[in-house]
Amino acid sequence: MTVLSVQTASRCQLVSITEQVSRAVEQSGIKQGICVVYVPHTTAGVMINENADPDVRHDILSHLERMVPFECSFRHVEGNSAAHIKSVLVGHSVTLIVEKGALVLGRWQDVYFAEFDGPRRRLVYVRVVGSPG
Ligand code: ZN
Repeated sequence: MTVLSVQTASRCQLVSITEQVSRAVEQSGIKQGICVVYVPHTTAGVMINENADPDVRHDILSHLERMVPFECSFRHVEGNSAAHIKSVLVGHSVTLIVEKGALVLGRWQDVYFAEFDGPRRRLVYVRVVGSPG
């Protein structure tokens, strides 16, 4: 397993981790298989989405904020229930196809770490499973 470290810079942020995940796939030596990207946090997540227009990332975060406003009457004493809920909505893992030793992604796709309670230093687990030939 490869452990990535991601430093986020604001409370809510989408950080592309495609390059780091691609590097982990290359270093695994696996040529054909799958790559699981897993976020071991309860106030963050991971998603695949558009890498071309940064307004898409903005719209995703602003709409999630409208759906689950940070300032709301929640019971959880930490005061970050909105981040926990967004984390559940986005999910904690994505599975990618590995072909010829590389990630298979659509032309407009990137893998994004989704921060909902930053800024913080976060971890991402990457596991590549398959055959070396
Ligand atoms: Zn909490």
